[in-house]
Amino acid sequence: MSSYDAVVIGAGPNGLVAANRLADAGWSVLVLESAPEVGGAVHSAEDVHTGFVHDTFSSFYPLAAASAAIRSFRLEEHGLRWRHAPAVLGHVRGDGSWAVLHRERERTAELFEADHRGDGERWLELCRVWDRIGEQIVHALLTPFPPVRPGLGIARRLPRVGGLEFIRTLLTPVADPTLWPFQGDGPTLLLAGNAGHSDIPLQAPGSGLMGLLMTMLGQTVGFPVPEGGAGRLAEALARRLRAKGGEIRCASPARRIVVERRRVVAVEPADGTRVTARRAVVAAVVAPILYGRLLAEDDVPGRVRRGMRRFQWDPGTVKVDWALSAPVPWSDAPAYPPGTVHVADDLADMTRALGQLSADLVPARPFLLAGQMTTSDPTRSPLGTESMWAYTHVPRKTAGDAGDGGISGRWDRDECERFADRIQDRIEARAPGFGERILTRRVLGPHELESRNPNLDQGSLNGGTSQLHQQLVFRPVPGFGRAETGIRGLYLGSASAHPGGGVHGAPGMNAARAALAHDRVRRLGPRR
Ligand SMILES: Cc1cc2nc3c(=O)[nH]c(=O)nc-3n(C[C@H](O)[C@H](O)[C@H](O)COP(=O)(O)OP(=O)(O)OC[C@H]3O[C@@H](n4cnc5c(N)ncnc54)[C@H](O)[C@@H]3O)c2cc1C
Repeated sequence: MSSYDAVVIGAGPNGLVAANRLADAGWSVLVLESAPEVGGAVHSAEDVHTGFVHDTFSSFYPLAAASAAIRSFRLEEHGLRWRHAPAVLGHVRGDGSWAVLHRERERTAELFEADHRGDGERWLELCRVWDRIGEQIVHALLTPFPPVRPGLGIARRLPRVGGLEFIRTLLTPVADPTLWPFQGDGPTLLLAGNAGHSDIPLQAPGSGLMGLLMTMLGQTVGFPVPEGGAGRLAEALARRLRAKGGEIRCASPARRIVVERRRVVAVEPADGTRVTARRAVVAAVVAPILYGRLLAEDDVPGRVRRGMRRFQWDPGTVKVDWALSAPVPWSDAPAYPPGTVHVADDLADMTRALGQLSADLVPARPFLLAGQMTTSDPTRSPLGTESMWAYTHVPRKTAGDAGDGGISGRWDRDECERFADRIQDRIEARAPGFGERILTRRVLGPHELESRNPNLDQGSLNGGTSQLHQQLVFRPVPGFGRAETGIRGLYLGSASAHPGGGVHGAPGMNAARAALAHDRVRRLGPRR
């Protein structure tokens, strides 16, 4: 039987962040990971087409670039190198024209100004407002709830950005026609598309904040990608951890967390051994895995058990990867090629697609998030080619197909391929000849995503819905909003914990900090 100060379950970004923080504090740490490699949903491989690196799940990391937790690890000293596309983000409309977010705000403003007089200055004014308060907002979102210190910082700055009117802006749905001051549709398309990165409906409160946050991150830190593939970010975290003395066991799923007298004492991997956790266990897996599989039912506090009955997932996902013999032949290619691409005819088209999803219908004309990865990082595929992906969300329980394909939600190979055709048609319509450039196509449906990472239940991205009723103190169940689980020494450190999905490491960092703080109190206790 082996023994460590802490056992971390799951080597996704959150587990690796938690483990690094605990190792920094001098703790001995073991990370158990069920997959053969580290990274969770931060993974890449040359498994679609020879010579092409594809990110299996996530790709763009503005949240990591903005995260104080990840920045504090100085991963560049452990092999990480960020790369940026010429433009951060582009939205390609139905007529093939683009709205583009350039990394330099003045350039973005020029593009908006060219579309509509005055929109350039309006854009710069929005950026200036963000300059005054944005850092505090990011800080508040990425620290444990309630965010006391950043909250005070926001309160101090609020008068300079319009006071309560600004708070109202953040709470207003992103698609509200009165929300943004722009005359052209470009800025609003970018803001709304960025809100579409979460599962908050565009007409619901919270979507305005999400859209503004992601857009302004794009305007300040960009949407960077790790040179060589997403997996390089996870490798850098793992390398740093090992350099600090931490251990990682891959292909070693945790099967059971052992609790005695309401305190966690050990973790049992699937090989039947037992690993003692002297000080803490961080479960960096989604809440249903922690509370439904790893803990015995009797060990789960009643309040959590009851709360988990109403836990809501975010929708499923279908992702398509392509190896292309040449860049995407956009009919009206933008002057600055973007790394991230949003595909929807206009705001109404996007709202309709997401509305169909909310009604449990397979979208007829799905809103696409796409990545031009060689455009972002030339090492991803041979010169003159493109490593590309697009994904969209699908209902978890399908009530019907809003399109004419009769997709039932079985998501077997036939349905995945037919839906991938629907996705591809949207790109082909804006880039005639796209299909002729495809060397290989791979479709990962909800079942394939989950089989590659059990955390991604039906391909859910965020460890549970990001909608307001399951955020803050409601995440993952009412009354929490922090890493504590109600079992002493056991912490939830995954995207299911506040502040949720995305690669920023905040849930992992929050869990590690909570473990360290409680341990300090525990050690001081008897001596008092
Ligand atoms: C298709 C897709 C695209 C995305 N795009 C982006 C993006 O571009 N930018 C962004 O910021 N975010 C993106 N995300 C979201 C982001 O990747 C996740 O929110 C993030 O990875 C969550 O981190 P995590 O550590 O909580 O969980 P995960 O990354 O899922 O890691 C959890 C780990 O736990 C392991 N595990 C599960 N059960 C056990 C067990 N019993 N024992 C041991 N190990 C176990 C899993 O194998 C996995 O490695 C995307 C997600 C997906 C699926």
